[in-house]
Amino acid sequence: MIPITTVQFGPEEEQLVLEVLRSGAVAQGPKVAQLESRFAKLFGIPHAVAVNNGTTALVAALQVLDLKPGDEVITTPFTFVATLNAILEAGATATFADIRADDFNIDPASLAERITDRTKVLLPVHLYGQMADMDPIQELAEARGLRILEDAAQSHGASYKGRHAGSYGLGTFSLYATKNITTGEGGLITTDDDVLADKLRVLRNQGMRSRYVYEMAGHNYRLTDLQAALGIPQLERYEKTVSARRHNADRLIEGLADVPGVVVPRQLEGRGHVWHQFTIRVTPEARVSRDVFVEKLAELGIGSGIYYPKLVFDYDAYRRHPRVVISDVPVAQQIVTEVVSLPVNTTLSDADLSEIIAAVRTIAGA
Ligand SMILES: *Cc1c(COP(=O)(O)O)cnc(C)c1O
Repeated sequence: MIPITTVQFGPEEEQLVLEVLRSGAVAQGPKVAQLESRFAKLFGIPHAVAVNNGTTALVAALQVLDLKPGDEVITTPFTFVATLNAILEAGATATFADIRADDFNIDPASLAERITDRTKVLLPVHLYGQMADMDPIQELAEARGLRILEDAAQSHGASYKGRHAGSYGLGTFSLYATKNITTGEGGLITTDDDVLADKLRVLRNQGMRSRYVYEMAGHNYRLTDLQAALGIPQLERYEKTVSARRHNADRLIEGLADVPGVVVPRQLEGRGHVWHQFTIRVTPEARVSRDVFVEKLAELGIGSGIYYPKLVFDYDAYRRHPRVVISDVPVAQQIVTEVVSLPVNTTLSDADLSEIIAAVRTIAGA
């Protein structure tokens, strides 16, 4: 089976983890600080604050914005559940804008329609490695005095008109095992705001400014040095990782360009896609349904994934939730029935790529 995700660690990771083990100091320490400063420098963002996962990164980012009960955060319904869980954990109300079919991300036109007097935060998710259309989102935020929080869990180093993900105010990243950069579990919050960065550092450590001096009701969101040690070498070779993913995506795009009923993903003008996922759409015009398509891929030895099988609010737990406001999202409703992610990871050989292309063409009757 050609796997949809792989995890690769090299001798650099082994050596750094050993170094931490032998130092005897395994909790948050110098390696965490190093991971933060290197991440910030690599992507040209003033501050990066490490936390224990991408979900707590979102929660902490929302918490430092001091939201009040009834305040609304607008996001996309086509995301991983963590985005919604974080909004609810922070005590805010979640509302939803529709998405665009060309980048799978929040549609700024729909976003504009969903802004109310209670809206405080616009929360675009940069899905699959490509950023949302940030210019109109930024214009909306400025015109209406709103904050932007980017969920960039899947988009380390992605760019929009030369600007990196996480540089529009507050951004969060995941370092979970399947992400482009991983520490097993881990997360980062980026910001250009000195005050917010300082607040985040205090918040993640029980609200403690210095030993037993508490400044706010905080939490333990800390990452460990053992985990940070895993992430540092991956940052150093991240450019290579991304170019391998781009190479794979280019091959797949070329090989699948003319397959009937299948729409291949695109890197839109002005955007730098980091190809966390390579997600095709199996449309109603295809010869087989999306679910049969996925079964046949498995039979042919090709791993695939459906990210995500339902819109995030489309579960009883959320449909009944008093702080989840569901609205009409026709594009997202359609897209969620069509997506299939194919392997694009750095371990793929040329032969693997040919095999993936051949399998898709066979199933679709191309
Ligand atoms: C992975 C992911 C998260 C959560 O990150 P964890 O590190 O798993 O907590 C949040 N949002 C999106 C879009 C993700 O893909």
